[in-house]
Amino acid sequence: MKHYLYPDATFASSYDIPYEELYEKGYRGIIYDIDNTLVPHGAPADERAIALFKRLKDIGFKTILISNNKEARVKSFAEDVGSEYVYKAGKPLKRGYLKALEVMNTNRDNSLFVGDQLFTDVWGARRCGIMSYLVDRIDDKEEIQIVLKRKLESIVLFFYRRHIRKMEKNR
Ligand SMILES: [Mg+2]
Repeated sequence: MKHYLYPDATFASSYDIPYEELYEKGYRGIIYDIDNTLVPHGAPADERAIALFKRLKDIGFKTILISNNKEARVKSFAEDVGSEYVYKAGKPLKRGYLKALEVMNTNRDNSLFVGDQLFTDVWGARRCGIMSYLVDRIDDKEEIQIVLKRKLESIVLFFYRRHIRKMEKNR
């Protein structure tokens, strides 16, 4: 059984993921968290984010941003990068992810999720059976409730990394 809090893979950054390979493997839709996944918390879309979404579109991917943030924040970011969006998504509940698949017209098997938090992003994606990639947060300065969640995350990640090492040893 796969643990609900374990991502399928971890990356240093959303900008380091081999998207072309994923497309070749049959993936067609990508769901992104915004804050600390694509830009620092609350920051507008920058050149790098805009270039990434252009590249994804050229590859042939459909994209959608799902955020628990308010519409004003999510919509303006989405417009800047040219992506669909779901605001107040209620992560880790399933509804935002299911809505995202519906909007992209993709399914749980050909879509993947990219986010920076285990207890909202990864947990929700795993509950929906969507492949999830955890990326290192962009910004270290975070609000206190997120800092506390990070402490819990580090415990889960400790066991996750140990689990990965064991699997690699037994291969
Ligand atoms: Mg985030």
